[in-house]
Amino acid sequence: MAQNHICELCNRNVSSITKHHLIPLEKGGEKFKTLSLCSTCHRQIHALFTNRELATHYRSLESLKKDIKIVKFLKFIQNIPGDSYLDIKKSRHVRKSC
Ligand SMILES: [Zn+2]
Ligand SMILES: [Zn+2]
Repeated sequence: MAQNHICELCNRNVSSITKHHLIPLEKGGEKFKTLSLCSTCHRQIHALFTNRELATHYRSLESLKKDIKIVKFLKFIQNIPGDSYLDIKKSRHVRKSC
């Protein structure tokens, strides 16, 4: 498969891209901007933050990129090929809120 998409968070080339709503859909997200993310980054964001946290603190790509957990994740992921599958574990406070 051609790796012709670029993830806006990790900037890796991937063969398929997902859309992340900066404001979750349940809070009226379709009216707002979306980010093009690889599935790994997308799962990582939802594993680290609840929808409420995303809607209040992480409404832009810049605010996500400034978060220390994301900084660490991006450092880790930059040497991994874009299409390889990574198992992402949800953090405890996210699991609790579900
Ligand atoms: Zn990515
Ligand atoms: Zn999302």
